[in-house]
Formats: sequence, structure tokens, C-alpha cells
Amino acid sequence: MAAAVDNIPKEQWAQVVEQKGGPAVYKQIPVQTPGPDEVLVNVKYSGVCHTDLHAMMGDWPIPTKLPLVGGHEGAGVVVAKGSAVSELELGDHVGIKWLNGSCLACTFCMQADEPLCPHALLSGYTVDGSFQQYAIAKAAHVARIPKEVDLEAVAPVLCAGITVYKGLKESGARPGQWVAIVGAGGGLGSMAVQYAKAMGLHVIGIDGGDEKGESVRSLGGSAYVDYTATKDLVADVKAATPDGLGPHAVLLLAVSETPFQQATAYVRSRGAVICIGMPANAYFRAPVFDTVVRMITIKGSYVGNRQDTQEALDFFARGLVKVPYKTVGLSKLQEVYDLMHQGKIVGRYVVDTSK
Ligand SMILES: [Zn+2]
Ligand SMILES: [Zn+2]
Repeated sequence: MAAAVDNIPKEQWAQVVEQKGGPAVYKQIPVQTPGPDEVLVNVKYSGVCHTDLHAMMGDWPIPTKLPLVGGHEGAGVVVAKGSAVSELELGDHVGIKWLNGSCLACTFCMQADEPLCPHALLSGYTVDGSFQQYAIAKAAHVARIPKEVDLEAVAPVLCAGITVYKGLKESGARPGQWVAIVGAGGGLGSMAVQYAKAMGLHVIGIDGGDEKGESVRSLGGSAYVDYTATKDLVADVKAATPDGLGPHAVLLLAVSETPFQQATAYVRSRGAVICIGMPANAYFRAPVFDTVVRMITIKGSYVGNRQDTQEALDFFARGLVKVPYKTVGLSKLQEVYDLMHQGKIVGRYVVDTSK
């Protein structure tokens, strides 16, 4: 280790998943020492993402490490660094995100597509994440958080914010154009609406119920289509654009399959449909004829690279994106998972690692 602050404890509090299916156990574990290219981060706050629940339950096709410390929206302070780390100082504020590290040498890393790196390390999945007081991350990959940014409020940007911002970039939609956001009233959706507005796009929110509609409008959405109330969703979405030709892009944040079957019907010719939400066992269906003759692009978008991360944080730092959240102690993480399991989560939860 090249440098470290004086008061790093030997033991720390963490939430540890000891077996597939959980639960997360709040206990003391040793504090690790960073390797040459790594930093040790004193995590102050961590957002809780649905992925953390999937990791604990082990219900994704890729196995997790076990025992596992989850968490990939960790905001904190660098307290130790390895001998090869020159670009970060002790005391710097950083974020531990889903991509904990990558090889930086493969063809994907060389093209700034590091989320596609075959050797990627995933926080709270293949390596221990941010549901502990001291977490390790590769120095090259930690998000650089400006000192004036509140660590508690910024935590959810580190996964949710980056993900929706990257999806909007991938859509290719330009200022003045229209984007439909499916699931616009949810946690990811409300961030997507704000990023889209800040990028100069007009937003059509698609979700269910009046409350979600009010949320979309209050965040600056130009139109709202309630899928529970509409008689013809495709016609209503197209009609929401001034020329009636439909949105230039569609961001699919939905957690059910049906919206994935509808999007190509209302997207504008030459438009792009971006898949981000991952309903379990879902398939994407689109008519080949329409896809060809209307030149529709269908894409997936997965987290973001280091540059996307800094840009997403910059929008937040400028006050253009606000994330409603509720903070509980790290010791209460299992209760948050229980609420998630029951589908009772409204907005985002952040855990405070000091209690
Ligand atoms: Zn996440
Ligand atoms: Zn790589």
C-alpha cells in the first residue's frame, strides 16, 4: 500500500449474504487491503438497487461470489491507495459503481466499452460491493465525485443515473426531438425524464395510474399516456408528437414484457428502441417487415463507461437531476429487501453505513 489514513479499523460492519437466497446478515468482517491498482473507500452511503436483490436470490444466469457483500451505488472517501495509484489522493470523494474494474486491455476496454469486458469485475456480484464500511475498487474505475456534491443524495446516480443517461445517449435522440419513456413514473423512469429534459428532449411518459402521470408532468414531461386507461396505446403515443409520427426514440425501463412488444409500433420511422429494463425470461418481438421498411433500430444499453459516469454525475452536480430517496441504517438492509420482494418500494432507498 502506498498511502493510507491513520485510523482505518481492522474490523468493520457489513451486510453479508452467506448462502444463495439470503438473508443478508449484519456482522463484523475484516477490512481488506487494496492491491497496487486499487483504492480502499470508506463508504458513507450506498443506494439499494433491484440488482442487489437478484444477486442475493441468485436468480440471474451468472453466479455470484459467496459469501457476498452486495451493493454497487456506494459513495464515500478514499482512505487508502495502492502503489500504482497516482491519479487519486487520500480524501478524494469517489463512487463505487456496478463496474468495479475491467482489464483495460481488451478490444472492448480499448473502445471505452468496458462494461462489455470479458474480465469485468462487478461490485456486489463477482467482487464485494458497497454494503460495508470499507470497500475496494479499481482506481481507474471509481467515479470521481466533486467535493461539493452530497454523498447521500448522489448515491443512486451511481447505477440508476448512469444507466438511464447512457440509454438516452445510445438512442441518438437530439435536442428538440421526442423520446417515449416506458416506466416513466418509477425510480429509474423519474431520473430518465429529468436527464432527457436536461438534454433538450421532449418527453412522453408511459406508465400506469394518475399518480405516475402527475410525477411525469411535475418533472417536465410534455405528455403522459396511461396504459391502464388508454384504448389504443400506439395511437395515443403517436398523437402526443406534434406531427403524429411518433417519438424519435423509446427507452424501455419496464419490468414486464408487454411494452417490449409494443414499442416498434409507435416509434417513428428511423427511430431507435432502447432496452434497459430486464423482465425475467422476457423476449423482444418486432415485425421484421416494419423494422426493415421503417428502418427501426433496436438496441440494448447496459450501464455506462467511465466518461458516461462523469457526464451523468455532472448533470447531477449542476442540479438538473434530483433523486427522491429514503435513508435507513445499513443494519436495516434486509428490511429494504423484504419491501422490494413485496413490490412495496416507492422511490429509492439509501443505506447509511454508520448505523
Ligand atoms: Zn443497479
Ligand atoms: Zn477489458
